[in-house]
Amino acid sequence: MSPGATAGPDRRTDRASADPGQPATRGAGRFAPSPSGTLHLGNLRTALLAWLFARSTGRAFLVRMEDLDRVAAGAAAGQLRDLTALGIDHDGPVLQQSRRAPVYDAAMDRLTSAGLTYPCFCTRREIREAASAPQADGRPGEGRYPGTCRRLTADEVAVRTAQGRPSALRLRRRVDTLTFHDVLQGAFAGPVEDIVLRRNDGLAAYNLAVVVDDAAQGVDQVVRGDDLLPSTPAQVHLATLLGLPVPTYGHVPLALNPVGARLAKRDGAVTLPDLTGAGWTVPELLALIARSAGLTDAATVARAADLLAGFDPARLPREPWIVDPAELRRDAG
Ligand code: GLU
Repeated sequence: MSPGATAGPDRRTDRASADPGQPATRGAGRFAPSPSGTLHLGNLRTALLAWLFARSTGRAFLVRMEDLDRVAAGAAAGQLRDLTALGIDHDGPVLQQSRRAPVYDAAMDRLTSAGLTYPCFCTRREIREAASAPQADGRPGEGRYPGTCRRLTADEVAVRTAQGRPSALRLRRRVDTLTFHDVLQGAFAGPVEDIVLRRNDGLAAYNLAVVVDDAAQGVDQVVRGDDLLPSTPAQVHLATLLGLPVPTYGHVPLALNPVGARLAKRDGAVTLPDLTGAGWTVPELLALIARSAGLTDAATVARAADLLAGFDPARLPREPWIVDPAELRRDAG
């Protein structure tokens, strides 16, 4: 066993390959933000926990920009700056999904050759209406894609294509539900949808890209926000159909505002630049995030690495972190 395979003082000596296309030899964790804006305290907390999970188990830690859509100018650079400020370091270059269309296309071609996809011509509105319509037995609709285009004949597909109707590509799923083990949530059972693989604007969809990239980068440990828990059964199923290894998952509770909505920029100063601008120091903010996750009682934490020795996943809170921006204000008095 290599010294890097267990947590220990020499954990950092065995760095993974810097080539993002090459699987890390000792596994990897990752943080995969969408560069749509500035990371807020909840995002930073998820990043910190993903980093702690990876580094405390001797894994590499990768950062991937999920920039297939919703890109804000300068956001990616700002996010990397904030991670660096907290001491959340990463191995190798940052992978950008916007540069990987051929890899995603190849994965979709493989699925199509195996009969595991179909084109979907439904508009958003049609899906919304069909998904909310009562089911055959009168129970309310489940909000899921009802599989309208799954049953189209080859002739019906040809007619719609000839009409120039744009189509998405969907997965022809092989199972209806799937259970996976989450290191924080335990056994999680959920429905598997015929997820969109390629959107009708031609771009690879999130669910396809995330599965392909985690495998391509050798990510065997996914720690991310629990808003993605419902997407995970389909991602596990997709990985299996593609013959890719399934990573372990840990879904961490999100940061919420006092009324229980997901923390967002509109809540006030909740980003690192805003809060440091309002008088907080980075070590104070790192300690605030760390206290919220039960990692320390300290008022300041200089760097993320200072939290490694005491990191115990079993002690992480299983409830959301309630952030009251009013209590973060330093200009109030
Ligand atoms: N890019 C996604 C987000 O920012 C995260 C995807 C993932 O971690 O799997 O919400």
